[in-house]
Amino acid sequence: MLPEATQTQPCPLCKQPLPVVKTVCPYCQYSKRLGKKLGSTGFPPPVSKPVQGKPFQAAKPRKRSSLMTDSKIDWGTIAAGVAMMLGAVIWFGLGLLLGILFYYPPVLFIIGLVTCFKGLAGY
Ligand SMILES: [Zn+2]
Repeated sequence: MLPEATQTQPCPLCKQPLPVVKTVCPYCQYSKRLGKKLGSTGFPPPVSKPVQGKPFQAAKPRKRSSLMTDSKIDWGTIAAGVAMMLGAVIWFGLGLLLGILFYYPPVLFIIGLVTCFKGLAGY
């Protein structure tokens, strides 16, 4: 018995030896599956297998979904921002206890706040 790839049968249309694994005759573009010649392109449709498999593609575009369902909140960044704000508050509080007004803690607090928002926005 011959391996499948080398078995041939004559093309029903042009009578050329046609490998049985081929669904389309390379000489006359007769399609065994369709039972007739393919259209005027001259080539069998290469990749696009007709219609089937479309439902699978419908579920694909997930990246564009809304912030609510697919937000990429960066908890590490938020934690860093919260830590900055806490540190600023403690620093500022200690300064007040010691009677010293530090300038930097409020700035650090703002930076921490901004960092927090950045984390929320997913930057
Ligand atoms: Zn043929």
